[in-house]
Parts: sequence; structure tokens; C-alpha cells
Amino acid sequence: MEIIDKRNQLTQNRNRSYRQRSRNAIQNIAIHHSATTSGSAEAFARYHVNNLGWPGIGYHYVVDKDGTINWCHNAEVVSYHVGNSNGRAVGICMVGDFTQQSLGEAQRNATLDLTLMLMDQLNISVENVWGHIEFPGYEWKQCPSINMENFRRELAERAGEDISGSYRSPNYVAGVRQRNYLSRGDQGDDVLALQERLNELGFKPGPIDGIFGPQTYDAVQRFQRSAGIGVDGIVGPETRTALSNYEGNGNDEEIEHASPTDEPDESEERFNSESRRMLRHIRPMMRGEDVREVQQKVGAMVDGVFGNETEQKVREFQRQHGLSVDGIVGPQTWRALDRVNGDNQPSYQRLLSLQSPYMRGDDVKRVQRELNVAVDGLYGPVTERAVRNFQRQEGISVDGIVGPHTWSRLFPGG
Ligand SMILES: [Zn+2]
Repeated sequence: MEIIDKRNQLTQNRNRSYRQRSRNAIQNIAIHHSATTSGSAEAFARYHVNNLGWPGIGYHYVVDKDGTINWCHNAEVVSYHVGNSNGRAVGICMVGDFTQQSLGEAQRNATLDLTLMLMDQLNISVENVWGHIEFPGYEWKQCPSINMENFRRELAERAGEDISGSYRSPNYVAGVRQRNYLSRGDQGDDVLALQERLNELGFKPGPIDGIFGPQTYDAVQRFQRSAGIGVDGIVGPETRTALSNYEGNGNDEEIEHASPTDEPDESEERFNSESRRMLRHIRPMMRGEDVREVQQKVGAMVDGVFGNETEQKVREFQRQHGLSVDGIVGPQTWRALDRVNGDNQPSYQRLLSLQSPYMRGDDVKRVQRELNVAVDGLYGPVTERAVRNFQRQEGISVDGIVGPHTWSRLFPGG
């Protein structure tokens, strides 16, 4: 195993540094791919610092295609790679886009060796080695796009442990019941039937075990993409119909490119920090602030209860925005809702500044819209930087904080 120490050689932000933690705060090893067909620790560091405004590179280790391991941070550094799980995870990134490339032997072996070394150093067991997609809130993230069950199995073999069967959860639901919607985390015979069908169609859902895990989720998404329907990883009526009618198109599935860079841009942090639920019309009906937010934006009666009317309005909204019409508020619909401008723009409410966790709200969105940065409603480093730039241009004091003075410059009309 060849490890090159680059801890003090990569681009860093002069003004910011990552927070530190104790070793025993570390509970997971996170495996990523870079989602770029080529790259290096140097290039990722430049991108994370110069383009995203982060303190330094997001990953602790970067593994090159030839198996060279680049050591970027001590494990105690809380760098950015899995949003709100950053505090508990060490990140390894394999250079490559494994939605379209395959992982070569040298790189795979080096990553396995490195992971074993870290498991040993940090006292982490094999079941706590997770792909990015397996972290809470990242079900939608195609990272690292390798089979993590196999990866863990190989780790266990190399470590001499037997973990067979340890992933089967005991609360398996048997029976002929066919649920209307199946999504990640569901278990049962209807999931088993789904996996069999996916397998039959060549979409390899992983073990046919009746558990809707990350591989089944991934297979559903590949199927949806291939069938030309909305890609949300949820099996509802539309997907079910497509599954029964699907004739296949040989083995060349259309593979869509992943996002150009892997990492926890702020939108990713947003999903995690808000841990937004998938909202849908079920019994008992779902309730909460998030339901209210949806109702406001789709023009349903705002009572915080996701019922029939809300579902109809969500469908209308989806139809108008060219989304797959299923009445379910999943990641795609959430993103579309985020882009909707509220009719009444908020006026100045409070001082906005970079804090941990990030401040959020419609006032932040309004600032972001005005400054042409991604509108996610979270006052993160990119927003702060844009505010500083704005203040510099306006010739007012540059502190990255939106107080009454900066606000009045941003919105002279109020
Ligand atoms: Zn990732």
C-alpha cells in the first residue's frame, strides 16, 4: 500500500479551517467516487476551496486509479463529504465515475487495504463502512456506484470475519399484501416480487431478499431511467405499470451522467440538515411543517396534513413542472418546489450570518436569488462569500453579514 502524505500540500482556504474532533467521535468510513472520469487530490482541493469556498479538500483520502493513496487530512479533521454525517465519518474518495466506468483491480485493492487500515486504527467494524448513498438522507445520491455489499464482504473476508446474514433485518413482513408504494427501507414479499421482476429484466437489484436496500433502490432508478419515466427510486403506480409492460432494450441501458463533481455542495448539506421526508398521501396521514411548506407552494389549503387535496395539488404542480406525476413529494419534487418563488417576498427580519448549523429561511433565499447563487435557503459559505463580494462592490464594510444596512443595499425597494 503506497500512501503519499499530502496533508499540508493541497490548496487550503487562508481564512477558514475545518473543525477538529476526537478519534472516538468517528463511527463510519464513507466511500465515495469522484463522479468525474479523471481527477486528483490536487484538483479536488482546488475545486473545493476556490469554487465552493470550503476550508480545504472534502476528503480524508483520495485513491488514484493506479492504486496510489493520497493522504489529505488527519482523521480528526471534520471535512465536508457527507453533510450532517461529516462529524462522524472519515471520507475516502476513489477517482472515477463508476456510473459509467468500472472500478479497476489496483484501485479497488488499494481502497480495500486503506479501509482495513482505518477500521483497525479507528476501531470501526465492517458494517459501519458505508457508501455515500447509505448515509441517512442520501438515498438519491449515486455515490459511490459500486456494490457496497460486495465491498463489505470482501473487507470481512480479508479481515477474517464472518458477517454472512448480518444484514437481514428481523422484521420481515410476509404475505400477499401489495403495497401501493414501495421505497427504500420497505421489506416484504412485495419487495421480493419487485426484485425478481427487476432481475428478470436485467436490472440486477442485488440479493433477492425482500429488503428494499440501496441496491434495489439503484436498480429501480436504472429501470425508471431506461423506461423513460420519472426517476425517483420509488415504486408507485407509474413504475409498476412500466414494470409489467417493459420489453427491454437489450443490455445497453442508457446511463445518465452523474453530477460533474461528487461532493457535498450546499444542496447536499441541505437535504441532510433538513432530513426532508418523502411526503405522500397515506394513512394515517402525514403531518408537519414540511407538509405546510408544500401546501403553501402548491396552493393547497394549509393545514399541515397531507390529504387528498394536497395530493391533487402536488399532482397539478408536477404536471406543470414537467415532473413525473405521482402525487409524492420526493427529492425531485422538493427541488422543483425550492425553485418556486413565493409571491410575497420577505422583508428584513433578522441579521444573517454564517453559523453552524446554517441559518435558513425565505429571507436567505431572497438574498441568494439577488446574488445569483444557488437558492437553497441556507446561509452557507458560498452565500457568505457572495455577500462579501457584494459588500466590496458597494463600498460598504465587508463582514459577510446581512444586517439592515446590507439588506437595504440589496433591496433598495424594501
Ligand atoms: Zn460521495
